[in-house]
Amino acid sequence: MTYRIATIRGDGIGPDVVAEAVKALVAVSEASGFDLDFIEATMGGAAIDATGSPLPESTLAACKASDAVLLGAVGGPRWDGLAGRLRPEAGLLGLRAGLGAYANLRPARMFPELAAACPLRADIVAGGLDLLIVRELTGGIYFGDRGTSPDGDAAWDTERYSRAEIERLLSVAFDAARDRRGRLCVVDKANVLDSSRLWRKVATEMAASRPDVATSFMYVDNCAMQLVRNPRQFDVIATSNLFGDILSDEASMITGSIGMLASASVGAAGPGIFEPIHGSAPDIAGRDAANPLATILSSAMLLSYGLGRKAEAAAIESAVAAVLAEGMRCADIATGASGELVVGTKAMGDAVVAAIRAAARS
Ligand code: NAD
Repeated sequence: MTYRIATIRGDGIGPDVVAEAVKALVAVSEASGFDLDFIEATMGGAAIDATGSPLPESTLAACKASDAVLLGAVGGPRWDGLAGRLRPEAGLLGLRAGLGAYANLRPARMFPELAAACPLRADIVAGGLDLLIVRELTGGIYFGDRGTSPDGDAAWDTERYSRAEIERLLSVAFDAARDRRGRLCVVDKANVLDSSRLWRKVATEMAASRPDVATSFMYVDNCAMQLVRNPRQFDVIATSNLFGDILSDEASMITGSIGMLASASVGAAGPGIFEPIHGSAPDIAGRDAANPLATILSSAMLLSYGLGRKAEAAAIESAVAAVLAEGMRCADIATGASGELVVGTKAMGDAVVAAIRAAARS
């Protein structure tokens, strides 16, 4: 079996962290007996320099012809002066639209070894933290009718969802919950908004035929509070574009480190996009200082959500847990505690590969 993976290294630390994720993917594929065919594609600033476009047509075509897309990060001060549609970030939005990626999956996972980096009280996150936010990505208020009155003294944006948009997003969320701890919390503002009442109606109907998932509902203002009061109560949270934008940033920050957080953007037919949530970090680019674990964990999501290779995804996640347990830390997650070994990008990637191979031998 051969899977085709489009790799977009991007700018800044993107190439460094993608290289380490590719190493991890190769290690699990060798241990599991399937092949990976990596197709290099260019996007963002690197693509602007090479072709004048942040998303060359050849890149979109290569991604569409792949089973999954592994992405580093794009952007940097060099391209900051360009107009909106010519900026590196326009490549990212174009890729998501081009692949029809309507569901954004953002795990907020805190390994117990990194509890010191968490801004919450130790007793709140004792035993670690592991929740997943499934955010609708291509509808809602960011895409609804908007305008400003002629005198500029009034402006509006419209939250609008169709049953079909809600159903396809919730379907991803129910599946994710079934693969995890079997709990789904649908977050809305159904006490005020008609669109939220439709979300709740559709979710209630879908839940009736999915008794294996325990479905609950929560208002978004309460959810924002519960995420810092007791985040361990959550397994999967499903919500709209706007609410998910805010809640996923809140959830990721309670884990304490941007260098650890993976994401996936998936749709119905096309391949999913798997990338760290961090940017191109120009301040540390080219210094072997970037933490590659967010991208390595994104490659685990690629295996799980993109290729259906859940055992291999778990092998990568276990390897990451193992290197953290050994005391390996990149600078962004080092606390100065005794027993820590602070390493660079490549050494961290090598350690993950060694842990994957060691587990495969045992
Ligand atoms: P950033 O995430 O690149 O960096 C924020 C801070 O976190 C920096 O101090 C950086 O050194 C640190 N950091 C980020 N990733 C790290 C890692 N893996 N290991 C260790 N430290 C890490 O955000 P920013 O500085 O706001 O943006 C820099 C550039 O990245 C901008 O051009 C921005 O537009 C772009 N960006 C791209 C994406 C993307 O490609 N998806 C996302 C966000 C920002």
